[in-house]
Amino acid sequence: MKFVVDGMLGTLARWLRMMGHDVRYSTLEDSELLAIAKKEHRILLTRDFELYQHAVSREADAFYVEGQTQEERLAELAARFAISLRIDMAASRCPKCNTQVQPVPKEEVANRVEKSTFEHYTEFWECPKCGQVYWQGAHWTRIRETLKTAKQSL
Ligand SMILES: [Zn+2]
Repeated sequence: MKFVVDGMLGTLARWLRMMGHDVRYSTLEDSELLAIAKKEHRILLTRDFELYQHAVSREADAFYVEGQTQEERLAELAARFAISLRIDMAASRCPKCNTQVQPVPKEEVANRVEKSTFEHYTEFWECPKCGQVYWQGAHWTRIRETLKTAKQSL
């Protein structure tokens, strides 16, 4: 699914990218966000009710995000757009730049991650655009918890 996300929802943008969605995130003016939504057929996600109403009046796809926590926001989107709350690395996008990540042989990241990380993990992915290396490290416990909480509140 394709989204454009307003400047107040940067964390949500990163979550959606990790879950494999094509997300443009931008601090552009409202009129420019709307133009992107219409031109690229993206759903505009916003916490700005005026912008939401304006988008609807201009016949752009838009969704007003009400949740206060990340879990609430993810649950709202899952309910509205039938998004599955899981991260499949085969489809996952770089949370920083929205490019699809690719598996990378362990040997190739030897000098790009901490020694302890290299020793502990066997699977790595990289972003072909920005070069960021990813692995399912300790922070994944928190990621899974967040997704679980979001699913439970559905
Ligand atoms: Zn990237």
